[in-house]
Amino acid sequence: MKRQSDKMRLEENSKKMNFKLWQYFMILAASIMIVLWLLQIVFMSSFYKSMKIKEIERIGNSLYSEYGSDDFQEKLVATSFSKGIAINIIDENGSIIFPLDIFDLIRRPQFEANAFVDFLNQLYKSSGESVVYTTRNIRMNQDAIVYGAILKNETGSNYFLYISSILEPMDTTIIILKNQLLIITIISLLLAMLLSYFFSKKLSEPIISITNTAKSLSKGDYSIKFKKGDYKEIDDLADTLNLTTTELQKSEELKRDLIANVTHDFKTPLTVIKSYSEMVRDLTGENKEKRNQNLQTIIEETDKLEKLVDEMLNLSRVQSGLKVLEKIRFDLEELTLEVLARFKYFSIEKGFNFTIKTEGQVYITADRTLISQVIYNLIANAINYSEGNKEIEIDIIEKVDKVCFSIKDYGVGIAEEDINYIWDRYYRGGKKHQRLQVGTGLGLSFVKSIILAHGGEVGVESQLGQESIFYFII
Ligand code: ADP
Repeated sequence: MKRQSDKMRLEENSKKMNFKLWQYFMILAASIMIVLWLLQIVFMSSFYKSMKIKEIERIGNSLYSEYGSDDFQEKLVATSFSKGIAINIIDENGSIIFPLDIFDLIRRPQFEANAFVDFLNQLYKSSGESVVYTTRNIRMNQDAIVYGAILKNETGSNYFLYISSILEPMDTTIIILKNQLLIITIISLLLAMLLSYFFSKKLSEPIISITNTAKSLSKGDYSIKFKKGDYKEIDDLADTLNLTTTELQKSEELKRDLIANVTHDFKTPLTVIKSYSEMVRDLTGENKEKRNQNLQTIIEETDKLEKLVDEMLNLSRVQSGLKVLEKIRFDLEELTLEVLARFKYFSIEKGFNFTIKTEGQVYITADRTLISQVIYNLIANAINYSEGNKEIEIDIIEKVDKVCFSIKDYGVGIAEEDINYIWDRYYRGGKKHQRLQVGTGLGLSFVKSIILAHGGEVGVESQLGQESIFYFII
């Protein structure tokens, strides 16, 4: 059992970010070391050889191009000395004609026969005027690079430029390098191990801190603040999480309000219904007129409850997409006038003045019943939240393939801090539970859901205490 939990802890630790980062850093350091070893030890000889060949070829070509110049011989001597290479000029019979000392003039030194034959073979085998090849220098018992080129002389016969350089054996150099590299590798790996430990710790610290803060958040502590780190990604994450916390807190408050509002909305009519029913039972049962009055109150309160339940049901149907839109083409102004007719009481009895502005008939294709409820809710709100000034203006404007419906009132307006939340379910601006206005707090949420279901958009512009313009574009 214990061994299993140890194993699990080990597995968990090996998954930790700083361990992973440390691991990656180490892999990086080890890869660099491997590349270094390969380059220095394995490829060293062939690298050295190809460099050397290139260099000899370059020297050979440069001397070859100088052939015929006045100081050609001086150049040969200087190059031979400075580069530590053997340079000869040989004639067709294999006699050396450069370099010669005084005695050589008498005994005409010959180039080593086998080497000369090999040299000629290589030279004539090659397609160009020069050749570079490696061979075994028997006299020195070492590998050598040979450059050869044909020099045409004035008499018409050929001379040959012969350059030879010993390829130093790399064995001793490689042994020295190996030892050196071993020390470098050990020091580098130790350093990498140490540094990567600190780096990975530094990189993972902000994430660990954010995780710990998020743990407090999951326990419902909204007072926490996500700390920013040393790099942008962590700052962005912290900002996003801080925003989420604010939103969660808001939504928690809304949930609390929702319960309070719903309870209140149901409780008030239920209390009235209960007390009036008791009144009918105990007191007014015999008095027909009084009894009917009380029963009428009960019916009205039941209607209120029914309306509330209906609204809640409708809202969830639209929001969950269960309600299928029955789209037809209709005149929006005509529908607005129809809805306004239901508010006749307010214009006749309460002094409200409704005006509609349109530029001719404006047709839209939408669910007529739902849009009529949207307009109804917007007008009801405009009436509910109007105070002294009872002007309500409706504008219907057609824009290319869109129609904008807006309704303006000169009522209480909306505070800036409320404006983003009024579309939420059960959100009610102002003092929450003491409502003077009739409303369920569902109206705007319903408006928004219906318009969004139609693929449209809703919006509001308002100044506290002055005016509000609610609009939808469809
Ligand atoms: P209800 O009106 O039942 O409270 P709504 O969802 O219709 O619920 O409205 C939400 C909130 O938006 C209201 O409580 C009110 O604070 C604000 N509101 C809506 N319409 C207006 C308006 N025309 N003028 C000022 N405030 C408004």
